[in-house]
Amino acid sequence: MALIVQKYGGSSVGTIDRIRNVARRLMDTQAGGNEVVAVVSAMSGITDKLIGLAHQVMDDPPERELDMLVSTGEQQSVALLCMAIADMGGKAVSFTGAQAGICTYGSHTRGRIESIAPARIITALQEGNIVVCAGFQGMTPGGEIHTLGRGGSDLSAIALAAAVKADICQIYTDVDGVYTCDPRVVKNARKIPVLSYEEMLEMASSGSKVMQARSVELAKKFGVIFEVRNSMNNNPGTIVQEENHAMESLAVRGVSIERNQARVTVSGITAPVAYTALILTALAEAEINIDMIVANTAHDGKARQSFTMNMNELGAAQAALKNVLPQLGAEARLETEAGLAKLSVVGVGMRSNSGVAATVFRALADAGIPTGMIATSEIRISTTVEASDIEEAARVVHEAFHLEREN
Ligand code: ASP
Ligand code: MG
Repeated sequence: MALIVQKYGGSSVGTIDRIRNVARRLMDTQAGGNEVVAVVSAMSGITDKLIGLAHQVMDDPPERELDMLVSTGEQQSVALLCMAIADMGGKAVSFTGAQAGICTYGSHTRGRIESIAPARIITALQEGNIVVCAGFQGMTPGGEIHTLGRGGSDLSAIALAAAVKADICQIYTDVDGVYTCDPRVVKNARKIPVLSYEEMLEMASSGSKVMQARSVELAKKFGVIFEVRNSMNNNPGTIVQEENHAMESLAVRGVSIERNQARVTVSGITAPVAYTALILTALAEAEINIDMIVANTAHDGKARQSFTMNMNELGAAQAALKNVLPQLGAEARLETEAGLAKLSVVGVGMRSNSGVAATVFRALADAGIPTGMIATSEIRISTTVEASDIEEAARVVHEAFHLEREN
């Protein structure tokens, strides 16, 4: 008998028919001789709708009340799912995050999980129930409801899987798994059967929207093996686990793309050496997330520094940097460029295979695609390109590494 945690995202429970589909799947899993814990998101669109309602009432709603409101989305779906199971003759019980024993700390709307006391879940399982937990929420020791940040049901599922020592955590979504590239862009992209935590992390934070990056970090920390699967079929998905030797044989496992990127450049800097600290502090104080950083000094001795960020942070970044410009020198000025995209190749095999960067940039050059800023980690190479070039860029790089081939 295995203990299985299954997480169903908003699209998987988006209609009553789909809720029945999930109920059936949970019952089938239990009938196969397993203990089953489900973690469920709000029906698709509900979280956004609730946030929208709040903003109709006032511009800047108190975060405590936002948590109170938004956490009801998951309470609806867990209750409806248990009703669907009851209607099919099964036995299920729903729990809020607090009832499931999820204890949180930190700030409202971005709570963090402190600990999980799964005693009630274990008892309910022993009584023969399918246990259905609300994702994306928990409670402080003082009794305040927290939500865990957008996409936080993934985090709830991984944390619960660790707490109940599940044999596997299955993340059900509306795609068959993690692909070598977005199949809408690269027609012959393939599903990747096994990925390492590191690769999944790099892909999640470089544009592959399959899973929240924080949850992958947690899974890695606690060694929770998880599988990304499709809730509408029974195809095997992508298993994410500790790195092994076989994964290193391929230099590149996948190509991620991220649109809506912008670049800001501060040029003409004549201030003393601490200018990078000045600039980064101004951006950090404005809570702006920057991605790539490039700095250099021109032959006239003036320095330039460029950053990339998401398009929707551009306005705030400009405002924050305007304030520090006078400290950077009399001729310091800001240039911005919108309409960029980022292409990344990811693979643990990059550590031991040389020539990966050369292959990426040769493929792009042969296709006549200009590249901009470049950033690398041990297992990732990223470059910016014009937004209008990103799809072609993904196709030629995917092809250059023969990712369409079975290996
Ligand atoms: N319903 C929440 C959201 O939309 C949590 C989740 O779906 O994971 O962010
Ligand atoms: Mg999600």
